[in-house]
Amino acid sequence: MKMPILVLGVVVLVAGLGTWGYLYSMNIHHTIQLGGIGLAVLGAIIAAGGAMMKTVSVGATTGAGQFACAKCGAKFNSEAALNQHTKDKHGM
Ligand SMILES: [Zn+2]
Repeated sequence: MKMPILVLGVVVLVAGLGTWGYLYSMNIHHTIQLGGIGLAVLGAIIAAGGAMMKTVSVGATTGAGQFACAKCGAKFNSEAALNQHTKDKHGM
């Protein structure tokens, strides 16, 4: 699950440029040509988002839920939060 979003974005980008180029060559109404450009821009955004999401998801999986309560299984981002929970909920 690393590359698909990035690949999808590139595919949409290329499809958008292709659509725009095709419509341009056919001399079709300018508003419809903008649709092709919009599709290309959307593809670029998806590709950029996919590239960023890769980094974010890696950071999220390593950063969140590191400390799990042994009593009830609740997850916390820091040891301090876990200790506070243990004290409050389980009286330890
Ligand atoms: Zn607990």
